[in-house]
Amino acid sequence: QAKGAGRNTLRFFDPRTQANVTARTLLEAGLREGLREGQFLLHYQAQISQQQGVVGAEALVRWQHPQRGLVSPAEFIPVAEASGLIVPLGVWILRTACQQLVAWARDPQTAHWTLAVNVSARQFRHSHFVDEVLGLLEETGANPHRLKLELTETLLLDDVEDTIQRMDTLRAAGLGFSLDDFGTGYSSLSYLKRLPLDQLKIDQSFVRDLLTDANDASIARTIVTLAQSLDLGVIAEGVETLEQRDMLAGLGCHTWQGYLFGRPGPAEALLQAAAAAQTS
Ligand code: C2E
Ligand code: MG
Ligand code: MG
Ligand code: MG
Repeated sequence: QAKGAGRNTLRFFDPRTQANVTARTLLEAGLREGLREGQFLLHYQAQISQQQGVVGAEALVRWQHPQRGLVSPAEFIPVAEASGLIVPLGVWILRTACQQLVAWARDPQTAHWTLAVNVSARQFRHSHFVDEVLGLLEETGANPHRLKLELTETLLLDDVEDTIQRMDTLRAAGLGFSLDDFGTGYSSLSYLKRLPLDQLKIDQSFVRDLLTDANDASIARTIVTLAQSLDLGVIAEGVETLEQRDMLAGLGCHTWQGYLFGRPGPAEALLQAAAAAQTS
């Protein structure tokens, strides 16, 4: 085996590593160009309450690449995050989401809808994040009470004091917070109690095998109980079947999101789905 600098040199020329670096650099350059050229769009997925039907949506970013077609956020968000491009991309996402809220506010059928926007760690920790959000709300005229930010456990617990400070400022302006992918991290319950959250979102990995896996069912039940005792709302993601929906309702979770109610799509598709749900 080579030693010292020799090993580094060998690593540098490892064809596999080299291929990964090249792919990432290309993706990064593509993202930069995509931002300039307006290749991003938001899709919307309905959030349904048992009592009220559609209560809002989650915004999910899409990249319409001229050659590759629709690229999944699972592929480009990590690269945007690592390169820092998530900051300008995140501003675009939040501005577009606010504009969508303003459009919904004009129609009495949709005026009460909330919009949940995913925020990643680097974006949330950016020194201008809070001011940026408040500025975008003012610029667009969107109602802050209709905007909900989805944060993850790892993000929240990374620097709890800073997290609480940022959340409190935004909360004072009217925004809400949902804890995304809940159950997949390692939340300490004592911290959870201190965070100014509004909602826990049961991760789809627990919903998938809800009917056949007793462990998943008891995790879902525990999350619902936890939400109740902390006085938080609870929503389940990844609901694909009527059986999953009914079992969640039986466990005390009455707000759902998933392919059963509609795939993420353009805002117009969401309107049609809501109209269909109302007449059926
Ligand atoms: P997430 O926030 O947990 O979003 C849920 C993911 O589950 C979405 O994948 C959605 O399309 C998918 N999904 C919804 N219903 C179902 C269902 O019934 N069954 C199954 N199997 N899947 C369902 P998507 O759109 O590919 O997004 C993946 C992840 O990328 C998101 O996970 C989120 O972490 C991230 N992401 C998406 N949009 C944004 C964004 O605007 N900003 C940031 N920072 N991250 C985003
Ligand atoms: Mg989410
Ligand atoms: Mg999620
Ligand atoms: Mg998830």
